[in-house]
Amino acid sequence: MIIPDCMPEPSESVLWLILYNNQLIDTKPQQPHYAPPLLTLEELPQAKRGYTAKIGDYEGRAVYMLVADADMKFPARWQWLPLRQCLLRTNELLFSLGARACQIQHFLSTHKFCGRCGSALAQSRDELAVVCGACKTTDYPRISPCIIVGIYKDKQILLAQGTRHPQGLYSVLAGFVESGESLEQTLKREVKEEVGIEVTDIEYVMSQAWPFPHSLMAGFVARYAGGEITPDPTEIVTADWFHFDALPQTPPQGTIAAKLINVVAQKVGL
Ligand SMILES: [Zn+2]
Repeated sequence: MIIPDCMPEPSESVLWLILYNNQLIDTKPQQPHYAPPLLTLEELPQAKRGYTAKIGDYEGRAVYMLVADADMKFPARWQWLPLRQCLLRTNELLFSLGARACQIQHFLSTHKFCGRCGSALAQSRDELAVVCGACKTTDYPRISPCIIVGIYKDKQILLAQGTRHPQGLYSVLAGFVESGESLEQTLKREVKEEVGIEVTDIEYVMSQAWPFPHSLMAGFVARYAGGEITPDPTEIVTADWFHFDALPQTPPQGTIAAKLINVVAQKVGL
């Protein structure tokens, strides 16, 4: 549970996810795993000047987030690293706590004025929300659902290079849910729009918060049902069927895309 706008006891050691400008502080940037600082409030007096919230627990410790500002000074051996670089070097639980912290920071930084009447918004004292003092509108953090799907045909998987992917990286297809759609409708529409094929036997696999900036990825696998691959050039550079012994460069372990590729491999008996 998220407890907004709160502090730990002064002498309690807690993990701090410290954020600023889409970056997180890593105390051991050379190590393979992301390492947030473990400190008491007395050892981190900067926390009294920024927004803090308790966002969960990790290995018996409370986890707090702190939204830093440009004037806060931290030890020189610590390093600010982009969110992705920290969160993709961690495990599932710390990833989800990091995702939570990032999304709360994004929410607070993009909700300063009321969308209905334009008055300044204030943070709610009892829940993670902002409230308009003039018209009483309450806004909560936005979460944008997306589908992501591993499609198989015989013993091959469909992988595509998106126009927004780094050069040479191939992944499974993904897309945002539009107003009024079910996840299954989104899946069929996105697959048809992006690569021009039909799918069937849609099976839900898992989900993952994806805080860039506020997606919730719902992961599926589906079987090819018909059509020729015809990439939409605005979204897809190239797409093709791949055998598992000759995969191109794909997303790193820890991402839902990598997990779906593994699930498809098991499904087709590899
Ligand atoms: Zn208002």
